Amino acid sequence: MPLDAFGEESVERMLNAQRIIYRRPPDPELAPARGKAPNTPEAIHLGMERKSRYRGRQGPDTSQRFRRASQILFLLLNVWIGWEFYFFVRYYETQGQTAFVARPAGVEGWLPIAALMNLKYFLLTGLIPKIHAATLFLLVAFLAISWLWTKSFCSWLCPIGTLSEALWKLGRRVFKGNLRLPRWVDIPLRSLKYLLLAFFLYAVGTMSAAAIAAFLESPYGLVADVKMLNFFRFLSGTAPLVISLLVLLSVAIQNFWCRYLCPYGALMGLAALSGPAKITRQPQRCIDCSRCAKACPSWLPVDKREAVLSAECTSCLECVAACPAAGALQMSVGRQTIVPAWAIGLGIAVVFLGVVGYAKIAGYWDTELPESIYFRLIPQAQDLGHP
Ligand code: SF4
Ligand code: SF4
Repeated sequence: MPLDAFGEESVERMLNAQRIIYRRPPDPELAPARGKAPNTPEAIHLGMERKSRYRGRQGPDTSQRFRRASQILFLLLNVWIGWEFYFFVRYYETQGQTAFVARPAGVEGWLPIAALMNLKYFLLTGLIPKIHAATLFLLVAFLAISWLWTKSFCSWLCPIGTLSEALWKLGRRVFKGNLRLPRWVDIPLRSLKYLLLAFFLYAVGTMSAAAIAAFLESPYGLVADVKMLNFFRFLSGTAPLVISLLVLLSVAIQNFWCRYLCPYGALMGLAALSGPAKITRQPQRCIDCSRCAKACPSWLPVDKREAVLSAECTSCLECVAACPAAGALQMSVGRQTIVPAWAIGLGIAVVFLGVVGYAKIAGYWDTELPESIYFRLIPQAQDLGHP
């Protein structure tokens, strides 16, 4: 039944269903009316009161269409970048026997540690680095996007986030649900991504500008992008096993990689904490149905907060899409200015294209090396060790 078709009768059914839920063992995360016994005068009064508050939404939710479009566009962009980069590498591996394809600088979005190095180099010297400068601009764009619209990089742009989401949705369809780890397992596991981030920040934080330049201008640093491609081309050792395990865990548990292991997502989440936009709930319009909390892939207790302030919220708007009550839940700046999904999508496009466009026009985007270096280093990239 479409959401705008919710009528008095369906609200009655929903509220009755809640009374049935009250008879189940209490769920500390989701129980909408903890402490209210079923069918007591209080519970019945509460149900009547919610019913009187209920105003159905006007029109179907479109937030997920905008988000899906953004995810698919960015995934296709990354597939195209990978395709072009592969043929660029093949040209130099075969010493010019295959067709030449220009290097897509966007491949540097896959070099997050080089991005941190270049950011530190820029902060120390005020200069845009010569090698892999696109990493710096992409990191700045993604941080800005995540700050403006709560970690939206993860659920609107990141191709790994998109694949992760596809996997848990597949798991939910096949197994009729996903696993939720108990809090005593979940919380320590969630700290892993912050530990990894702290490790990388420490490693980069202890490097001087000269050390960063020496690293990025070393043979290893110059072809760090080729080494990344080769990692996926020539999976060896335990890598296939680890990737298979991650895929299986991602089918079973919502956003397993993003939730527990991704240091890049951890950085985006920390940047988002001070941002202006938040998911906000209007208690006077909310009917306490808990659909938002059940829909949240980050397992946040949306139905118990007036504003969601969490480094785990990714602006996916699944909670907003699930909410049946008009004006009860939205992304907003402050408590008044509602930010619709199309505005988030448009804002992300403006920031992303603006930063990349600036870098291109200013001549910072492409790393330009003499062909002789590529002809020498790319065929031996596999054997180049860390300096
Ligand atoms: S469902 Fe809502 S609260 Fe949960 S991550 Fe998405 S936007 Fe944030
Ligand atoms: S915000 Fe919406 S989905 Fe969440 S409990 Fe209130 S009415 Fe239900």
